[in-house]
Amino acid sequence: MDWDNVYRWEGKALIPQDGQFIRLREDKSIEVPDNPIIPYIEGDGIGPEIAPAMIHVVNTAVERAYGGSRKIYWLELLAGDKAEEKTGNRMPEETLEILKQAIVSIKGPLGTPVGKGGKSLNAILRQSMDFYSAIRPVYWLGQATPIPNPERVNVAVFRENSDDVYMGIEYMPKAENTQKVREFFLREMGVSEYALPMDCGITVKPMSEYKTKRHVRKALRWAIENKKKVVAIVGKGNIMKATEGAFMNWAFEVAKEPEFEGKVITEGEPKDGQVLMVKVITDQMLMQLVLKPEAYDVIVTQNLNGDYISDLASALVGGPGFVPSGNIGDGYALFESTHGTAYDIAGKGIANPLSLTLSGAMMLEYMGWKDAAELIYQAVRRAIGERLGTPDIAGGFRRMGQQAKELSTMDFAKAIAERV
Ligand code: ATP
Repeated sequence: MDWDNVYRWEGKALIPQDGQFIRLREDKSIEVPDNPIIPYIEGDGIGPEIAPAMIHVVNTAVERAYGGSRKIYWLELLAGDKAEEKTGNRMPEETLEILKQAIVSIKGPLGTPVGKGGKSLNAILRQSMDFYSAIRPVYWLGQATPIPNPERVNVAVFRENSDDVYMGIEYMPKAENTQKVREFFLREMGVSEYALPMDCGITVKPMSEYKTKRHVRKALRWAIENKKKVVAIVGKGNIMKATEGAFMNWAFEVAKEPEFEGKVITEGEPKDGQVLMVKVITDQMLMQLVLKPEAYDVIVTQNLNGDYISDLASALVGGPGFVPSGNIGDGYALFESTHGTAYDIAGKGIANPLSLTLSGAMMLEYMGWKDAAELIYQAVRRAIGERLGTPDIAGGFRRMGQQAKELSTMDFAKAIAERV
């Protein structure tokens, strides 16, 4: 890869002098210059292979769409293995500071070393900029899939990212603290021994109105802007009334806010420009996704359900290697590949770069550079349509009895760029 707009980390982050940082307006919308500085973190495992592939495709699309009048200045920041090796710290302060300053950025997968303790790097990033919604648009690009007629799948999963059992409020079985919490429930709250036996562990599942509503608003705005029709509010509200049930009710309160008047309806047929909001129980949704994936355009859900649902939805189109993702807060956004570090295939040049590349396209859309994003989507469809791909993609076609041409990570990126 030979681009003059990529500023690699050399002893420190080298801020490009010709670029400008994206600005966050008071209303939390973003102002994107024609020469934005976009920080990128390669990530661990296959990260150093897929990141240059993504940059190559995105640069080509931006050049093709805007003929030099717009250009990204890529600024490498360190995190994970490379950061530990170069600075002794897996998440340097410099990285967090610049990510905040730059507002919009992109990253490959980051591993959490087993047994070393400490918080996951992904959790540090998520909390540092309060990325409260994780968005995973799932659609089919022509690859081999486990279901017939995968063109029926086109659904965006909005997973709440700042609430739920992920808050880490846990009491391990038989620990002293657990007994204190147990005693409180038994003595003060009238809970039975049957429900909380001596040897139980307890995980707390908080869910707040404020966090739910900001997430739902984001999803509804996205649905309206992208002309979607059916938004499903998903949860197990019938069982967890105080949390998932409350989430579902709050979502319907948001639908009544003045901002959504006439745009979000809760019954009847949505007209042009309108979105229909419906309630769906989680188990129903999991079944519907497999049997009738075309029924819903947007799924809005909590953190834990969002984890299950987004993985199932991804599997329908061949797995997380084909699906992009964005973590979005109030203006701040960090796009990332949905798969993990895949150390087992790292360094072999065979990793599928699509998840990160499509995340790059999603980032361009977020920046308002939709023409460049569209060029990437079309080019990926063309390349896959010609049965080109990394070994996992080619292998999928072969399992369906079709021929395919196997390419390395970078050659596949080049094939996509040639079709931009
Ligand atoms: P982590 O521990 O960081 O979650 P992981 O290696 O378990 O990482 P997963 O995303 O769960 O990552 O991937 C499981 C397996 O799928 C990997 O070991 C790898 O063989 C394969 N895989 C994942 N991502 C890709 C990719 N982009 N291209 C090709 N194969 C992949």
